[in-house]
Amino acid sequence: MRWSKTYIPTMRDNPSEAELVSHKFLLRAGYMRRLAAGVYNYLPLMQRVINKVSNIVREEMDSAGAVEILMPFVQPADLWRKSGRWNDYGKELARLKDRHDREMVLGPTHEEIITDLVSGELKSYKQMPLNMYQIQTKFRDEIRPRFGLMRGREFIMKDAYSFDINEEAHQGAYDKMVAAYHRIFDRCGLSAKQVDSDSGAMGGSGSHEFMVMVDTDGGECTIVSCDKCDYAANVEKAVFRELNPPVQDKEIKETEEVDTPNAGTIEEISEFLKMPPNRFAKTLLFNAEFKGKKKNVVKPVAAMIRGDRQINEIKFKNYLGCLELEMAGPETVEKLTGAPVGFAGPIGLGCAIVVDPEVENMTNFVVGANKADKHIINVNLNRDFKTTGVVDLKNAPVGEGCPECDGLLTASRGIEVGNTFMLGTKYSKSMGGKFLDRNGKEQLYIMGSYGIGVTRTAQAAIEKFHDDKGILWPKSLAPYQITIITMNAGKEPQQEAGEKIYNELTEAGFEVLYDDRMERAGIKLNDADLVGIPLRITIGDKSLAEGKIELKLRNESDLVRVDLSEIIEKSTEFLERAI
Ligand code: ATP
Ligand code: MG
Repeated sequence: MRWSKTYIPTMRDNPSEAELVSHKFLLRAGYMRRLAAGVYNYLPLMQRVINKVSNIVREEMDSAGAVEILMPFVQPADLWRKSGRWNDYGKELARLKDRHDREMVLGPTHEEIITDLVSGELKSYKQMPLNMYQIQTKFRDEIRPRFGLMRGREFIMKDAYSFDINEEAHQGAYDKMVAAYHRIFDRCGLSAKQVDSDSGAMGGSGSHEFMVMVDTDGGECTIVSCDKCDYAANVEKAVFRELNPPVQDKEIKETEEVDTPNAGTIEEISEFLKMPPNRFAKTLLFNAEFKGKKKNVVKPVAAMIRGDRQINEIKFKNYLGCLELEMAGPETVEKLTGAPVGFAGPIGLGCAIVVDPEVENMTNFVVGANKADKHIINVNLNRDFKTTGVVDLKNAPVGEGCPECDGLLTASRGIEVGNTFMLGTKYSKSMGGKFLDRNGKEQLYIMGSYGIGVTRTAQAAIEKFHDDKGILWPKSLAPYQITIITMNAGKEPQQEAGEKIYNELTEAGFEVLYDDRMERAGIKLNDADLVGIPLRITIGDKSLAEGKIELKLRNESDLVRVDLSEIIEKSTEFLERAI
């Protein structure tokens, strides 16, 4: 491709709309343009990258035995009502009405559609195992679209769905998909880490996420891993083994209200009362929105965790089974407790109180008194207040023990590029997915669903591979493998050599971007770095006079002069070395 014949609107300065380095480069290097919040035009270079990712995904899905289909983007609301997700999916589900006032949604995922598609026709055990996938645009009305394609509202996803006759067969199908995912991300140059994850709105029994590990703000997920074994989990899901549990008093004491002037945080009170934070129980107030018969209802709920722990809102939300969960603002806190923020406690609190198991095991602990500048000491669960439930509500802290071995937990950041779910019979049950087994008995089939963010994967590669000048594409995803630049545009014999090399490499099967613009060399060299093509060939008078050209890999600093006659072998050799 000639640069002058395609459309690559590079920008000199960093666009102000972008915070993340990969987002900046996608805009600056002319890969995409924003149309609305979280909605982008993909320009020619981006479309080529998307095709590269999609082709890798397609090849690996096909070889794992999945078959490609394409389902509708616009879907009838009825199917979402049938599965129960019309309510459960919340505001991310974009809803609209057609001219006949029929309710429709823009597809954020396709469990409902595929289950409806096969129901009634996938009716014998002989038709399974079955796995169908598609690569398609999705829409999710994300509350905070950001970071470009990382968290878009419109994005491209590969979604696959498996159907099996029993749990054992499903496990086999699931393992096959997981293996295919590792191959896909390896081929994209990304080697993703597989972690235990929370199943969230998808439902079902188990799930894994595939993370591209990065040290930048692009790593929106916190991953907790063991330093010894291969235990790794999203912090939303991670559990741990406590190394030094605090010793508890044997003798139960009487409660006492104490003054804690201007001490609203755990650190301040701990300092003031000269007691370690693990003798305190924090009472955190939330507003939870529940599905109601006619209207949804919002109720306050309290979560209690030990003073030295962090709340994990996902675990709390899953336990409550609510639609939305939000930390209560100062107004709600004051209304509920009669005190300013920082002094909430469980005694006399007029709402449901859920406690973490660590709190259940504490004796004579300290809580807020629901009065300004006051706390209560020697509090004991059951004697002084009641709980509505006991469940793990905390993040797994770094430095605690691995739940599976004697190693220690560490934290790192990742970008979730893929997700695999064991769905069990959630959708076959609600959508009528039955078949006849070997004995002629009616059964529900066991489903799995498997997503890969195609556009997010492309951007994750940039977040992982870049320098201050621009992108360093892994060769498997790069829009072109080679870019050619003449140092003096239009000048002979450079011009003729450029044309010749371009034709020769293209005919040899390389994907080549020939920068034939009548621009200064400096501009073209900068643009080449920005755009991130793995191999650059420069043609200048001096070397050309000796029958040579210069080769440079984007991820190496050396310029190597090679004979014109060797250009194909040398290009192949260089590209083998590229990322
Ligand atoms: P997240 O937790 O990041 O919101 P999710 O769990 O909602 O993602 P899935 O339903 O598992 O996402 O979707 C499958 C894949 O689609 C994800 O692993 C991710 O790569 C991609 N994806 C999900 N939401 C977005 C988005 N808003 N923008 C771009 N890609 C996305
Ligand atoms: Mg997910």
